[in-house]
Amino acid sequence: MEIDIQHHEVWFVTGSQHLYGEGPLKEVADHARHITKALNEAPEIPVQVVFKPVMTHAEAIGKLIREANQAEQCVGLIMWMHTFSPAKIWLSGLMNLNKPFVHLHTQYNRDIPWSEIDMDFMNLNQSAHGGREFGFMASRLRKNRKVVVGHWQDPEVIHKLAVWTRVACAWQDAQGGSIVRFGDNMRNVAVTEGDKVAAQQQMGYQVTAYGVGELVSYVDQVTDKDIDRLVEEYRDTYKMDPALQDKSEQRQSLKDSARIELGMRRFLEDGNFKGFTTNFEDLNGLSQLPGLAVQRLMADGYGFGAEGDWKTAALLRAVKVMSSGLNGGSSFMEDYTYHLEPNNMTVLGAHMLEVCPSLSKNQVSLEVHPLSIGGKDDPARLVFDVPTGPGINASVMDMGNRFRMVVNKVDVVDIPALPNLPVARVAWKPQPDLKQAAEAWIHAGGAHHTAFSMAIDEEYFEDFARMANIEMLLIDKNTDLNDFKNELRWKDLYYHLAHGIH
Ligand code: MN
Repeated sequence: MEIDIQHHEVWFVTGSQHLYGEGPLKEVADHARHITKALNEAPEIPVQVVFKPVMTHAEAIGKLIREANQAEQCVGLIMWMHTFSPAKIWLSGLMNLNKPFVHLHTQYNRDIPWSEIDMDFMNLNQSAHGGREFGFMASRLRKNRKVVVGHWQDPEVIHKLAVWTRVACAWQDAQGGSIVRFGDNMRNVAVTEGDKVAAQQQMGYQVTAYGVGELVSYVDQVTDKDIDRLVEEYRDTYKMDPALQDKSEQRQSLKDSARIELGMRRFLEDGNFKGFTTNFEDLNGLSQLPGLAVQRLMADGYGFGAEGDWKTAALLRAVKVMSSGLNGGSSFMEDYTYHLEPNNMTVLGAHMLEVCPSLSKNQVSLEVHPLSIGGKDDPARLVFDVPTGPGINASVMDMGNRFRMVVNKVDVVDIPALPNLPVARVAWKPQPDLKQAAEAWIHAGGAHHTAFSMAIDEEYFEDFARMANIEMLLIDKNTDLNDFKNELRWKDLYYHLAHGIH
């Protein structure tokens, strides 16, 4: 499975009104075409930007919105009010729109031509107040949208549109998408539970369970020839531990792991699943915990959550789509253990095995070692370190009456060699610091599982939470714990009232 967002479209929709007459409206359309072309050619925007005729009537807007709702390739709309566009003509259309939109509050000319400006110029270039009239209607209708302000050639404006576009692709990907759970939840774990009907209603993806036996039957059907071919691919791709030579016991473990990968991959492809969960308490019929298989499937764009964690699997899938083609990796992650040395407090992140090699900085080593829990055969896994730089952890919880996303910015740091820890790992310092970040995270009820990324930042998660209309809490260098705890209180109240009975 490869993620391809380039075939998607965003539609560039310009608002005006008929009172301007034919001449000025032609000029409006020319400006809109010019901006569309520029956005389309901006390398940062990964999809096609499609020009749509200038909107001056409610009927045309209604028709356009119906088309946008229907068009599978259209992930969202960029709306720009070139001139004054009385917003009642947008009311019905906006009410019916079920795709995300961004309000681009720009104007064609960057500068005011001070020495030449006349009434004609001023009447034509009215985004400054036209955008406000449109903004009122969108707010009056309580429409969630991103607002981007600035000249359309401003790199910051283009970047914000690019981020929103990538998030809209992830949103489209989630609608009707399917996450498969092999088995159920890890026994007694709380945060990985949740209301799957509410998740489908709010975020669009469905969660489907299969007994692990269904997976085992796929694994059992894998042929020796396919296994040998895959082991060869491993040898060509990774630095293979010399202990994995022919006929060793560990070699057999590696072959078993390849068998699991091939069976899982076929299962996911047959069911058109976009992500999956495993549960190490429910591996009946599998010889080892799927480590290598999970790592490689994540690298191919599948979402993953351990211990039945379907919410993190779906979130990671969204991150994989958003970050498609960007530098830096993304993975399922867990805060594993702490380094609490004063002034150097650090989190060591890993999972038992399942960290995505898209994060690796050096050559990835393929090894087989005992797991020390679980009572299964020694599993194969990829071992590597992660480069330093900015990173981010995000997690979604079901709070009972709503979904909450918690996001923490972190700085990935170097760590000494770990000769006795044969798992992929990453160390980070959370912002503002470990003490405050963990306190805030814990007050928020943040999960111990996250989608971790070094490819995207908090703006992506803000845009995603806004599209899903779920709560989002950010912990970063500006976080003040007292403010944060108060935010938790008033958001509890806000969401209680805002969602009503659904
Ligand atoms: Mn876990």
